[in-house]
Amino acid sequence: MIADLDNLIDLQLTDTRLRQLRKSLESAEARRAEIEQEFEQHASSIRDIQRRRDDLKTQRAEIENEMAKSKTYLERADRNLKHAQNQKEYEAAMRDTDTLQKQISGFETQIVELMSEIETVEAELSERADEIASLDGNRAAALAEFDTGLASEKAEFDQTTAKRAEMFAKLPERLAAVYDRLAQRSRDGIAVAEVVNGSCTACFISLRPQVQMEVRRGDQIITCENCTRILYLRPAQSEATAS
Ligand SMILES: [Zn+2]
Repeated sequence: MIADLDNLIDLQLTDTRLRQLRKSLESAEARRAEIEQEFEQHASSIRDIQRRRDDLKTQRAEIENEMAKSKTYLERADRNLKHAQNQKEYEAAMRDTDTLQKQISGFETQIVELMSEIETVEAELSERADEIASLDGNRAAALAEFDTGLASEKAEFDQTTAKRAEMFAKLPERLAAVYDRLAQRSRDGIAVAEVVNGSCTACFISLRPQVQMEVRRGDQIITCENCTRILYLRPAQSEATAS
């Protein structure tokens, strides 16, 4: 009987591990997408800043262009002023000169403001230069690490599935049937429950001292009076390796 109990415990641990692996493998695609999304968020926030810098530079170039035109007009207005033939021409040239000078001064103010904004954005980009430079590499590394972990989980799942079939085949038919029935009945797949501090760890009921003693003896299959799962007490010597 005791060997059967050991086999049942091993089977339970194996099945619990298989459940974990299955759950992890089922969510693998979503978890991989999360990693990609996180890096994409960084990349997109960097692209936003770069786009903003490019926009500001385009604006500055446009204003510089406008200002150059105004300066050309101003030179012409200055010439007109010098060569004015009469009061009327003189006044018209004066007005043009005045208007153009104000315009140019306005452009200059705008350019100064834009340059300061560009400087701020450039500073932000240079602060994040390391992040920008390493982003693609980090993304590839994170995904490669994930894929390696996934491959090892898949391998473990296949090996454990094969091992599980072997273990199950070794059990006496009746016990195997009891185990399967219990495991399939419960949502967590637990058919064999450890007893901790005198309680069943599957349904948390306190076990009668008589039941606790029988479980401690470990010479027969004892089931929980509440949830009917097979009970066991972890042997003291296997505590370190089993945990
Ligand atoms: Zn129980």
